[in-house]
Amino acid sequence: MASGSSGNSTLVRSDEACILFDAGLSMKYILSCLNKLDISPREIDGIFLSHEHTDHIGGAGILSRNQKIPLLSNKGTWNAAKRKLGKVYRYKLFETEEPVIIKDLEILPVPVSHDAAEPVCFRICQPRTKLQIGIVTDIGILTPPVKHHLQNLNLLMLEANYDLDMLVQGKYPPNVKLFIMGDLGHLSNTEAGESLVELLGEKTKHVLLSHISKDNNTPELAHKTVSKVLRRHGITDLDLGLTYHNQMGNVCLVK
Ligand SMILES: [Zn+2]
Ligand SMILES: [Zn+2]
Repeated sequence: MASGSSGNSTLVRSDEACILFDAGLSMKYILSCLNKLDISPREIDGIFLSHEHTDHIGGAGILSRNQKIPLLSNKGTWNAAKRKLGKVYRYKLFETEEPVIIKDLEILPVPVSHDAAEPVCFRICQPRTKLQIGIVTDIGILTPPVKHHLQNLNLLMLEANYDLDMLVQGKYPPNVKLFIMGDLGHLSNTEAGESLVELLGEKTKHVLLSHISKDNNTPELAHKTVSKVLRRHGITDLDLGLTYHNQMGNVCLVK
């Protein structure tokens, strides 16, 4: 749908399932994106929530209520988010690191290092074809569980949140800058590149850079810096795509 510091939502559709990962954009915007893709909100099986920050859940409560879509998260996120979400249509709890089956997909919530109650990223697998994709945003550092579960996927969506120089020279207060750079914050473009070097495998053909800050980064700069790191490690045959905070990303077909 879109991704950035101001709102994130990713649609994953398989032969049978249709799932939203986070809904940090307005309902109106998400519905207009679904409409462009010719998908009815009724087709959405559920909205998985990674953590309680507004840029990930801002539209989730109203979407759930108005469109009768179940929300799914772990207990930590539910407790931290329930007041902001308001009344919801249905809520289903999952355990971090225990797979959830939705029709032909298996979703594994993997713990991440970020300033939230129980933040996770997601690995989505279609057991029949063994195709796997990962949605990894809002991580301060690459931790062993992420390295273990998110390696060698067919498609990886990874955050490249900030350009270090832009952040350092930017207008954010010093404590916020330090926080963003810290282990519970976000990945810089260079850190995203270095993380990719660790996570990419022979199966990985597509990468989408996401959660690109509109204050401390640009999509072009993220692409350039990450490409440079990858080239330094001899990786040149990758489809490195971008996501945008204010426009719908391209549809990426994994097969
Ligand atoms: Zn975020
Ligand atoms: Zn966050």
